Amino acid sequence: MEALRESVDLAEFTTMHCHAVASNVVDVRSVEELVEALAWAGERSLHVRVLGGGSNVVPTSDVNGLVIVMRIQERSPCVDGDVVHVRLGAGEVWHDVVEWTVSQGWGGMENMALIPGTVGAAPMQNIGAYGVEQASIFEELECYDRQERRIVKLNAEECRFGYRESIFKHEYCERMIITSVAYRLSTSPKINASYRDVSQELTAMGVAEPTIADVMNAVVSVRRRKLPDPAEIGNSGSFFKNPVVEAATAERIRADHPDAPAYPQADGRVKLAAAWLIDQCGWKGARSGDAGVHDRQALVLVNHGTASGSDILALASAIQQSVHQRFGIMLEREVNVW
Ligand SMILES: Cc1cc2nc3c(=O)[nH]c(=O)nc-3n(C[C@H](O)[C@H](O)[C@H](O)COP(=O)(O)OP(=O)(O)OC[C@H]3O[C@@H](n4cnc5c(N)ncnc54)[C@H](O)[C@@H]3O)c2cc1C
Repeated sequence: MEALRESVDLAEFTTMHCHAVASNVVDVRSVEELVEALAWAGERSLHVRVLGGGSNVVPTSDVNGLVIVMRIQERSPCVDGDVVHVRLGAGEVWHDVVEWTVSQGWGGMENMALIPGTVGAAPMQNIGAYGVEQASIFEELECYDRQERRIVKLNAEECRFGYRESIFKHEYCERMIITSVAYRLSTSPKINASYRDVSQELTAMGVAEPTIADVMNAVVSVRRRKLPDPAEIGNSGSFFKNPVVEAATAERIRADHPDAPAYPQADGRVKLAAAWLIDQCGWKGARSGDAGVHDRQALVLVNHGTASGSDILALASAIQQSVHQRFGIMLEREVNVW
């Protein structure tokens, strides 16, 4: 294979920037190249991993196998009245696509502006931000089934989307490689600016009746202000999911801490803020060597320089234990640990 590289440091491929060497790395730009890469690995009995933008992966050891970097590019829109069906290659950069769709006047993605990574990874954890998840605009995806050795189409139900969840984190983990995703956008979109940070930003911008471009710009400003930029300090965004607990558990916590953020869910359970729980345990700004907790956002673990994936994971475990001890809640990792 032409594009094959050997002994590659994954620090440059992941936003946490932890050092780990992959024995082989290859970029794939088409389904044909993907199939070729899989065959190459198969002939050598090599383990295969797929990487998009590396913004949700922390490697804890060297990867003795083939890392396939998804680079398939495609933007195929089809306008049907006020509905726009857009098929996107898995290697498209998510935020570039958001900017492009907004510039076309197609609404649906604007609240998810500036989420790092690729289109192909978006269904994996059903990305979402500021009141919108990709599931709300999802139509279908195509993926390569490594077991059946063919491309299959999956609809939303088959993907089993949930809060930062999908079938790709479970039964289809490592079996399916997403090659394209189709979304349904609208030329007469419903604006969703109800999220407090977004509405406050729009007010500060002097916008009373926001367009999708205004919402995107507001989201970008809020995110730039609140989240650390991986180009400046290694991080993978939220390290843990917000825990969804039984109502009685939330009531117990709020009895002692009336200020604890709590969001009732449709099924009667309550979503708590992992950042608040971590902050209460005194972790905000904490540091263990070069592994640390961000000083403004307790949900974000950071690499101050030379932290290894194992250092980050050790810090994450210590946080999980202390939150469990204090509140009886075990935080679940959002980040994929390799
Ligand atoms: C600063 C920052 C802010 C963030 N904010 C948000 C946020 O607001 N909301 C949110 O939901 N997430 C957020 N994230 C997490 C991250 O951006 C998303 O999870 C994103 O979808 C990851 O995309 P990626 O291409 O970088 O995936 P990678 O990190 O490369 O991969 C993630 C996982 O998906 C798998 N994968 C990647 N591509 C494919 C494919 N084509 N087929 C099958 N499996 C694949 C990988 O094997 C891996 O297990 C943030 C991350 C950072 C660093």
